[in-house]
Amino acid sequence: TCGICVEKCPFDAIEIINLPQELNQDPIHRYGENAFALYGLPVPEAGSVTGILGPNGIGKSTAVKALGAELTPNLGEYGVDADWDAVLDRYRGTELQNYIEKLIEGDIEVARKPQYVDQIPKQFDGNTRQLLERTDERGDLDYLIDELSIRPVMDQDIDSISGGELQRVALAATLARDADFYFLDEITPYLDIGQRVTAARLVRELAEDEETDRSMLVVEHDLAILDLLADSLHVAYGEPGAFGVITDPKSVRNGINEYLKGYLSNENMRIRPEAITFEEHAPRETAKGQALIDYPDISKSYGEGEFSLDVDGGTVHRGEVLGIVGPNGIGKSTLAKLFAGSLEPDTGELDFELDIAYKPQYIEIDQPMRVDAFLSSITDDFGTSYWDTEVARPLQLNRIMEQNLTDLSGGERQRVAIAACLSKDAELYLLDEPSAHLDVEQRVQATTAIRRYAENHDATVMVIDHDIYMIDLLADRLMVFDGEPADHGHASNPQPMRDGMNEFLADLDITFRRDERTGRPRINKPDSQLDREQKRKGEYYYTG
Ligand code: ADP
Ligand code: ADP
Ligand code: MG
Repeated sequence: TCGICVEKCPFDAIEIINLPQELNQDPIHRYGENAFALYGLPVPEAGSVTGILGPNGIGKSTAVKALGAELTPNLGEYGVDADWDAVLDRYRGTELQNYIEKLIEGDIEVARKPQYVDQIPKQFDGNTRQLLERTDERGDLDYLIDELSIRPVMDQDIDSISGGELQRVALAATLARDADFYFLDEITPYLDIGQRVTAARLVRELAEDEETDRSMLVVEHDLAILDLLADSLHVAYGEPGAFGVITDPKSVRNGINEYLKGYLSNENMRIRPEAITFEEHAPRETAKGQALIDYPDISKSYGEGEFSLDVDGGTVHRGEVLGIVGPNGIGKSTLAKLFAGSLEPDTGELDFELDIAYKPQYIEIDQPMRVDAFLSSITDDFGTSYWDTEVARPLQLNRIMEQNLTDLSGGERQRVAIAACLSKDAELYLLDEPSAHLDVEQRVQATTAIRRYAENHDATVMVIDHDIYMIDLLADRLMVFDGEPADHGHASNPQPMRDGMNEFLADLDITFRRDERTGRPRINKPDSQLDREQKRKGEYYYTG
């Protein structure tokens, strides 16, 4: 072997045209013999937000731990005591020299938001107030609590609040600290678009504070938010679990565009065989307009005045992908349960007799059973080359087939649940937040799998999601929710994408422009010329 390949030759995964310089050197860290190796480190920059974009298992957290001095890089020499002076020697004369010197002197205070906020209740016993009060080092905690709408859960036990609330509490706890470097390992999981934009704004505000020189390093899989958030971007690529390379910084626009294209120009490296494109959808060949379901106005409420949902009657067409968007707590999952038949409406009737496959938002597949046994119990197609191409490969299931359902990570469980849903022979597929816990690569592949499945099977799909890129790539029409979260919700009837996006984004006061080169949607800076112009015209999303 050439010294790079550990378990597996990377040439299988990536077409290396010219071996990048990083791979000709020793790694910055290797966990052990035949273990993961990381090449390259991101460069935190004072007063700015640096993003990292890449798949899970590629070494992003390892890099973040190294820069936070939680881990001393061993420069590939595992088994001996690593020391920072050797690392400093390696980085002398580079942009990291200064940072590493300060780190060695103990001059760097680090605040870190962990990736998996679900773990927080296992480590902390107490309520939100108790967790947050210990973090108020800058006197900004009250501001953060208000901006992130945490006030209503201040006296609730940490183990009783929702994922979205936990994420916002974790963000407040990190941003309230007085640190030099803030490492945020994903800021958007469980948040709706409005909350995502708020979180991005708060991170930017702290970086831009002129009296201090704080640096922010952010790992993020929501591309629209990453675009809004970061000043520069490192792309991470390689073979998950085997090796990872962190590139030199790129401009955010270029970095995302190259990533989507699947080709890194400076590195002369193809990281994916196909580009991800955002062109207008080609018209489907299925007979449009043929109704699968005609449903009347329906309503549903929980308890006495707790939450009520009103749904405008409408039609779901055969063979379409219907996107469903709206804030958290507005009734989207309730609607999915009504359509799936696991809840009965209070008024109006859903009396269609259809085979429905439903992936709920919170996935419960906890049987002590292997992934392959579970999936083969669902479909006779399991193991056929057809099923492999359509389902297993795009959802990256082959690597986890022999694992037990109970041992899966959040992202693995999500992919198995999507596969289980698509493997059912149904007329209507209902997917509630399929992008949760997935990295960019997995989102795109899951999106492609769902889209292709719908096209090949003339299947009808309803997808709830907060990732605007995923919705844009997937949906033919849009159902938009509005109302007052946790109080009452209202669902519009399915609308054309343009009308639906305009209604949804007008409510959020956010406009998108299109990247000239790739057609990728980008969030406009509030009150920029384009933002004002598009709002005047009432065109919040599709400008073409
Ligand atoms: P990412 O943040 O990009 O998801 P990580 O840095 O967490 O990636 O992990 C990269 C790889 O290193 C993974 O395959 C992971 O299993 C492995 N790894 C992480 N920590 C250790 C460790 N302490 N010992 C051995 N391998 C590890
Ligand atoms: P979304 O999917 O849009 O986030 P949901 O449909 O899950 O919203 O929930 C809408 C509202 O109804 C929330 O305030 C939620 O707390 C409440 N809710 C959901 N399920 C129940 C239930 N079984 N009993 C009482 N309230 C519920
Ligand atoms: Mg929901």
